[in-house]
Amino acid sequence: MAHTLFTSRLGGVSSPPFDSFNLAAHVGDEPVAVTRNREILAAMIGLPRNRIFFMTQVHGNVVAVIDQNSDPEVAPPADALFTTLPGVALVTLIADCTPLLLKSEKAVAAVHIGRKGLVAEVLEATLKVFNEHGVSNQEITGEIGPSICSGCYEVDLDTYREVVSRNPAAATDETSRCLDVAGGVAARLKGAGIEFRRSDLCVRHTPGYFSYRRDEITGRQAGVVWL
Ligand SMILES: [Zn+2]
Repeated sequence: MAHTLFTSRLGGVSSPPFDSFNLAAHVGDEPVAVTRNREILAAMIGLPRNRIFFMTQVHGNVVAVIDQNSDPEVAPPADALFTTLPGVALVTLIADCTPLLLKSEKAVAAVHIGRKGLVAEVLEATLKVFNEHGVSNQEITGEIGPSICSGCYEVDLDTYREVVSRNPAAATDETSRCLDVAGGVAARLKGAGIEFRRSDLCVRHTPGYFSYRRDEITGRQAGVVWL
């Protein structure tokens, strides 16, 4: 059976501007605070700290498969983590991007999708790994966690057009030039025949969440999935 969790910025030990439940090691927060927060996360999900895997997110389409030989101290450069191992938690870290958790009886994945990942098709790359491990799209369900909303994510016109040309569901209008990345993810899930739930919380204008667009120097919340 698969489990999921989305964290907020509440419940950790980090000081401002990372207050308080920052789970990212790359944003300038005190390493000792991040370590403590990751221990708190481990306690929340009831797994040892060394059974929780993070990735070095690069806005690409690489899927890292976590197996018996994977080292929890190494965060592979990837934007999706996949495993068939029970008792192994996979983490996607976000401040504005869309956290997507995919689960089935036999395998789970944590995916990080911003506008670049949407264009790079990291979602499709992850589904391919499920399929290669004998899990069909019909056996997978998805959860889209809190991310930046379509009213808050303005980009330049070229970027807007590039993303929307391949992802019509990410469109708002060219006057606002705001992208609906989560809407684009939702449309692609629908197109792949995957049932999903979608949070309607915006991290930029909902208190209690980290938002890079709002604060620039800030922490990261997490989406976590495990069997
Ligand atoms: Zn918003």
